[in-house]
Amino acid sequence: MTRALIVIDVQNDFCPGGALEVPQGDEIIAQINDLMKDFDAVILTQDWHPARHSSFASSHSAKGPYEVIEMPYGPQVLWPDHCIQGTSGAEFHHDLNKVPADLIIRKGFDPAIDSYSAFFENDRTTPTGLEGYLRTRGITELVLVGLALDFCVNYSAVDAAKLGFKTEVRQDLCRAIDLNGSLQSAIDAMTTAGVILTRV
Ligand SMILES: [Zn+2]
Repeated sequence: MTRALIVIDVQNDFCPGGALEVPQGDEIIAQINDLMKDFDAVILTQDWHPARHSSFASSHSAKGPYEVIEMPYGPQVLWPDHCIQGTSGAEFHHDLNKVPADLIIRKGFDPAIDSYSAFFENDRTTPTGLEGYLRTRGITELVLVGLALDFCVNYSAVDAAKLGFKTEVRQDLCRAIDLNGSLQSAIDAMTTAGVILTRV
């Protein structure tokens, strides 16, 4: 059995003071660092958008942040500009230990489509390559932590479980945005997909 820790989007813009802050997003970092040594592989994901990305409200006239629009691939929440490539907001939080990371996988770089999941873009079909990386390394079990529980962690965990990985989400090492009931919806979706939700 080979286990990987997948640390989702612990970046400045998702932490307090960032452009799309997740409340208490920085409180989980020390414990995530401690957890890294217990795994065969550590993978970090990094939301990585070009300026004027289609998921930004500022890219759509007369739309504000947190409104939902219909994109060719389905409904899309519009976000404040965040995690723009090369900016300090897109950098990992300075307290996160990057040294143990075997792989950093970036997502959301296609201007036309968002990518909440570490496995697929928001059309749920275009792969990021992470599945192939895990399979070729013989990794079968995943533990996910990070930000935000109800979006990128949720989508990543649901995809992982659907792909057949044994998937656990450490809820105590995640924080949520909780937009219009999104936290409960996420918990329901993960549970339905067979994700194991734990608190330690
Ligand atoms: Zn994003």
